[in-house]
Amino acid sequence: MLIYILSRHSDSYSTKRLFEVAKLNGHQVRIIDHMKCELKIGFQSHIFYQGEKLKKPDYIIPRIGSSATFYGSNVLRQFEMMKVKTVVSAEGLLKSRDKLRASQNMVFNNIEVPKTYFPAPYQENFQYMINQVGGIPLIVKLLEGTQGLGVYLLENKNEAKKILEKFNLSNTHYLLQEYIAESKGTDVRAFVVGGKVVAAMKRIASEGEFRSNIHRGGRGEQVELTSAEKFLAIKTARILNLDVAGIDILQSNRGPLVLEVNSSPGLEGIEKYTDIDIAKAIVEYIESN
Ligand code: ADP
Ligand code: MG
Repeated sequence: MLIYILSRHSDSYSTKRLFEVAKLNGHQVRIIDHMKCELKIGFQSHIFYQGEKLKKPDYIIPRIGSSATFYGSNVLRQFEMMKVKTVVSAEGLLKSRDKLRASQNMVFNNIEVPKTYFPAPYQENFQYMINQVGGIPLIVKLLEGTQGLGVYLLENKNEAKKILEKFNLSNTHYLLQEYIAESKGTDVRAFVVGGKVVAAMKRIASEGEFRSNIHRGGRGEQVELTSAEKFLAIKTARILNLDVAGIDILQSNRGPLVLEVNSSPGLEGIEKYTDIDIAKAIVEYIESN
């Protein structure tokens, strides 16, 4: 097969691993920087890569980071228009990237998420907003944050008002969310490939930190998911049109809640902590499909 990995960073761990495994399995592989792709739209649609008219591949594996969502999703759609298969669709990428859109899609399909509130732009009745998610402590998030940056735990009213005022002033879009204290700085990352959970890890925040992101100093350990968690992860990936996805779950007193869906989940942490060859699982899924 001819496989393109859409990635801006040919030396990143995930890109390198996917490249190696696809090569090892006898495929022709190229790393294509989606930000250097130009799109010709007309009777015959093509993609040009630094002046070269790209040959139509059999499959693409997008690794599109959050700073390239807009352009990357258009490149993806162009491949889809050319009838190329992809493990992440343009629609799936867009649905998962924005926390508001993702939660709407999930809740609409009966997937439980933490209680979340999206205030009207410039809403200034902070007490009212705080009450909507059950009061202090609460979580405030930027809609398109990643790696734990842009997620705040607010433990008193004045602090909450100050930060919300600041966001209003700078025209920043945010959401308020109930704080799931019982998860105690941990969450579960389920790695879904082709409708199956191929690996799962528990992520544990470092001392004094509530965010379990590995980028924020969290560590991981392999975990066995309950059947409810597995079901939830698989259903979420399906609803968001993703054949490859990292589904983050908070273990709450009222059962598992989906916190976030990652359409470009990193391989480094999960391969390291679970010893599972995720790149191989992705390439083998493509082969079987
Ligand atoms: P990001 O996209 O930046 O990773 P997340 O929404 O995944 O943002 O939040 C980052 C981390 O913060 C989560 O992995 C989790 O550990 C913690 N966290 C986020 N929201 C909540 C919440 N409502 N209750 C408890 N912990 C939370
Ligand atoms: Mg996250």
